[in-house]
Amino acid sequence: MLGVQMLGNETVSVKDYPEPVQNQGEILIQIKASGICGSEMHGYRSHSAQPFNGGHEVAGVVIDAGNSTRFKVGDHLGVHAVWGCGNCRWCDVGKYTFCDQRSTCPGTHAEQLAAPEHTCLKLPEDIPFDVGVLLTGDGLGVPYHVSQRLNTKGGDVVCIVGAGPIGLGNAVIQSFFGAEVVVIDINSYRLSLAEKFGIAHTINSQEIDPLEAVSEITQGMLADKCIEAVGRSETLRLALRLVGKSGTVMAIGEQGDVPISPSSDLIRRDITLMGSWFYHYSEYPSMLDLYRRGLPIGQVITDHFPLLEAQTAFNQFANGNAGKVILEP
Ligand SMILES: [Zn+2]
Ligand SMILES: [Zn+2]
Repeated sequence: MLGVQMLGNETVSVKDYPEPVQNQGEILIQIKASGICGSEMHGYRSHSAQPFNGGHEVAGVVIDAGNSTRFKVGDHLGVHAVWGCGNCRWCDVGKYTFCDQRSTCPGTHAEQLAAPEHTCLKLPEDIPFDVGVLLTGDGLGVPYHVSQRLNTKGGDVVCIVGAGPIGLGNAVIQSFFGAEVVVIDINSYRLSLAEKFGIAHTINSQEIDPLEAVSEITQGMLADKCIEAVGRSETLRLALRLVGKSGTVMAIGEQGDVPISPSSDLIRRDITLMGSWFYHYSEYPSMLDLYRRGLPIGQVITDHFPLLEAQTAFNQFANGNAGKVILEP
């Protein structure tokens, strides 16, 4: 089968790989759509080649259902990117991200994938595969889980630092739940996407001081909630400055150590600082329901490329002039 290999130094190639081995309890999937994730940029820009690719947001069709009673040949499905062991206390309640034996979905920028049945999520046939990538992957998963942790109320002012696909997804869902959303980035293309989605405020922090702008929008009260979706020390520090008294800062951009001053950043203003990772398998029915109720999450997809044009797709994503980019094997 064809699959993408990350060669390092912003280069990828599409090569022939052996077809995946379908073990007992696994579903063999023909991949129809595979999303490029910001988390892959580290490998893309590194100086060393990887044996395969880091794709993990995927939708497709069952080729062989093995001994499954839930799936049959031809069913549409997506795959949860975090593979719980399927047998522990956390897996029993559909919280694979908490499983101590968890692994990750292997590269999905390819034609086929064999995945454990308990990581597969049935996709109704009227849902396009690219949207299926969002519904079962990071695209809706991360913003949905954040929304459940934040419990946004209508009228809350929610600042989102970072307008990549995850930041934009958060903007869409927080707006849908009635928040007055402020999106902050330095990428004018991505800010223009947020404007196109009808997001209340966009701020280019290279042109305008975001603290002054948010202060003006909120008559000095600052944000009720602030979501950090970049993963840089300075943007988490910014999020802590943009949130008002008794507000909440949600960290979702993966990163290392960040200097925090407990007294001024947290204690003296009753600030809650929290984190949120991916989504729980058990949340999928509610996510699907939200999409059925009109959540316009599909608008974060801006580009589709055939698998053979993976290099162009990665370039497009990496240069920032894109929302979600989908590869179609
Ligand atoms: Zn991802
Ligand atoms: Zn487990």
